[in-house]
Amino acid sequence: MFSTSQGVLQPQLIDISHKLDSRISTYPGDPSFACIPFSTVEKDGWSVHSISIGSHSGTHLDAPSHLKRNGKTVDEIPLNMLIGRARIIDVTGKSASSKITWKDIQSHFPHSSSPWRIVILYTGWAKYWGTDEYLSYPILEKRAAEELIAREVAVLGVDTLSPDAIDGPDGYGVHEVFLGADKVLVENLNLTGLQPGDEVMVSFLPLKLAGCDGSPIRALAWKEREVSRGENGL
Ligand SMILES: [Zn+2]
Repeated sequence: MFSTSQGVLQPQLIDISHKLDSRISTYPGDPSFACIPFSTVEKDGWSVHSISIGSHSGTHLDAPSHLKRNGKTVDEIPLNMLIGRARIIDVTGKSASSKITWKDIQSHFPHSSSPWRIVILYTGWAKYWGTDEYLSYPILEKRAAEELIAREVAVLGVDTLSPDAIDGPDGYGVHEVFLGADKVLVENLNLTGLQPGDEVMVSFLPLKLAGCDGSPIRALAWKEREVSRGENGL
């Protein structure tokens, strides 16, 4: 929220989450999603649903404990790590299964410390959500993940199923690098409402699931509003 002399202005929120329904793309072998009526207004006087979902279904966050023994669980991640300014990096033009290399993104990080603690890779893959094409996507090379961690990036978001290939020959290098450093990954972002190159504020808050390795999130973005001299009464 932004305060002005005229009151409080709400930022315009951009929903960067995929809808959870029966057509969602899930990682092969993961639990399927269901939201089934448990009681109904007609029969019971009120409506309640029973929800069944994997901890890595839909737009979600990977906690360090997803891969790291005794790593932080989703309820232990500091919330201020998950809200902040993010850079949306353009990696469109990559084909399915091709590598996003450090060279592809290096120019955004000329200094030893990144100006953004949250970095999001925009491949353009969100448009394939719910289709077979979604399951084969560009992947990030491990070295690029190491360079991001060296520059103090704490959260890496992708608009694909994973920054690593499904059962790929290179293993789960980006997961190992990020989660191994007690950092966080966010997967299956729906970036169709953003442009590559945007700089936005984002919020990736998980459910407070005790001891869990990941959580679905309602990911949001908004543009920081510049308050002009006229508006703030100066
Ligand atoms: Zn995950």
